[in-house]
Amino acid sequence: MESSRIKDILNADSYGRQVLVSGWVRTRRDAKDFSFLEINDGSCLRNVQVIADASLSGYELNVLGAHTGSAVQVHGTILQSQGKGQAVELRASAVKLIGECDASSYPLQKKRHTNEFLRTIAHLRPRTNTFGAVFRIRSAAAFAIHKFFNERGFVCLHSPIITTSDCEGAGEMFRVTTLDLEQPPRLEGDYGGKIDYSRDFFGAEASLTVSGQLEAETFASALSNVYTFGPTFRAENSNTPRHLAEFWMVEPEMAFCDLQGNMNLAEDFLRFVIRYVLDHCAADLEFFDQWIEKGVVQALEKVAQAQFAQMTYSEAISAMEQSSRKFEFPVHWGADIQTEHERFLSEEYVGGPVFVTNYPKEIKAFYMRLDEGEKTVSAMDLLVPRLGEIIGGSQREEREAVLRRRIQECGLAEQPYWWYLDLRRYGSVPHAGFGLGFERMVMYLTGMSNIRDVIPFPRTPGNADF
Ligand code: ATP
Ligand code: MN
Repeated sequence: MESSRIKDILNADSYGRQVLVSGWVRTRRDAKDFSFLEINDGSCLRNVQVIADASLSGYELNVLGAHTGSAVQVHGTILQSQGKGQAVELRASAVKLIGECDASSYPLQKKRHTNEFLRTIAHLRPRTNTFGAVFRIRSAAAFAIHKFFNERGFVCLHSPIITTSDCEGAGEMFRVTTLDLEQPPRLEGDYGGKIDYSRDFFGAEASLTVSGQLEAETFASALSNVYTFGPTFRAENSNTPRHLAEFWMVEPEMAFCDLQGNMNLAEDFLRFVIRYVLDHCAADLEFFDQWIEKGVVQALEKVAQAQFAQMTYSEAISAMEQSSRKFEFPVHWGADIQTEHERFLSEEYVGGPVFVTNYPKEIKAFYMRLDEGEKTVSAMDLLVPRLGEIIGGSQREEREAVLRRRIQECGLAEQPYWWYLDLRRYGSVPHAGFGLGFERMVMYLTGMSNIRDVIPFPRTPGNADF
C-alpha cells in the first residue's frame, strides 16, 4: 500500500478510508489501554493523531518504543475525531517502528527552541513547525516564480556559476582556483611576485558569480525575454540579518524594455508570487501570522492588491531631509541609501512598497543607462517595509560609446567586457532587468527576521557548516 500524505487525509472526505501514513513522531502520550501518537510527514503544518491500542501486536516494541523523533509507519482507518482540536484521527491497525530515536540525546524537545539554537542543528531544524513552514513556502514561491515567467513566455536561462568577469566591477568575489596556494606559479621575471593565473585551471582569474545579469543580457539580445534563477555569491564581510555569502537570485532581462516597463514587470511579478503563496500556503502563513510576525498575512493581502509607489532618488532625499527623523547615516544628495533610510521610506513615508529611481551615477554600477543631464542613471530599487531593498534593477546602457566611457570612468578595464560591448555593436536595443534576492522574498513572505533562517544551510562569514 502506498503512503498517503497527511495533508490529503485531514478532512471529512477521508472518514472511513484505510490508509498508510509514514512520518516522524512529534509526541506520544500513553493512557492505560492505548497511546496517542502525533505524526508529522512535512506535507503540512498539522500532525495526524494516531490512536494505537495496547492490544496491537508488537505494541511494546513499536509503539512504546516510538519516542519523539522516531520514524514510523501506521496502517489504520481515518475516523471523525472525538477529541478537540482536530477533525480526524487515525485508528491504527498496525504500527511499525521504522527508525528509532534516542530520546535522551535527541536535541528537538517539545519546548520551543530559539532560532539561534536551531541554526546549530540545521540538519534537524526542518522537523520543527517553523522551519517546515518556511521551506514549504520557499518551495511554493520558487514554483510561482517559474510559473510567472513561463506564462509570460520568458526563457529560463542557466547562467554560469564560475565566471571570469565581475558584474559590478566591485570585487567582493570568491576566488576559484586549483593553484597550489603555498607555491603558486609566479610571472617570469616579475620579482614583485605576481601570480601567473594563465597557469590556473581556467587560464585566467576565475570567481564565483555575483550575478547572472551580463550573461542574461546576451540571451535577451536574442531570445527577447529571459530570466535566471540560481545561486550567487558575495564575499562581502557583512554580518547582517539580510546578507548571505551564498544566496539565490532571480534575474529577468527584457529586450525592448525601459525603466518603467521594468518596474511594471517587477510589480506584477511580486504581486503574482505573493498571491500564489497566499492561495497555496494559507495554513503555513497563518502560523507565521500567529507566532512570528503579527499582521504578515494582512500586509501581504494589501500588497497583492496595491499599486506600488514610485519616487526618484532626489525626491526620496528631500523627503528624508524634510522629515524630523534623525538618521544614523546622514542624508544628502549623492549619499548611498542605507537600510534605515529604505525602511523609513517604505514603512513611514509611503506605508508600502516603493520604487526609488534615478540614482546618482556615482553610487550605481557602470552598466546602468545614463540619464539626460548625466548626473543620474536609470536605476530602480524596490523597497519594502521590514526589509528595505528587495529588488535592484535598471535599464542598461545600450549605447556603445556611452558604455565605453562609463567603463573607463568607473576605473574598469575594457578588455574583459569585449563581448558585452559587442552586444552594443550588433543590433543593440534598449533593455532592462532586475535582481530579486530570493531569500529576501522568503523573509518578506514569512516575516522571518533573519536571512539565515530562510535558506536550508546558510553560508555567512565564518560559517559554512553542514
Ligand atoms: P544591499 O544593498 O541590500 O546589500 P545590493 O545593492 O548589494 O543589496 P544588488 O547587487 O542590487 O544588491 O542585488 C540584487 C538583489 O539581491 C538585492 O535587491 C537583494 O534582494 C539581493 N541581495 C544582494 N546582496 C545579498 C546578500 N548578500 N544576501 C542575500 N541577498 C542579497
Ligand atoms: Mn550588497
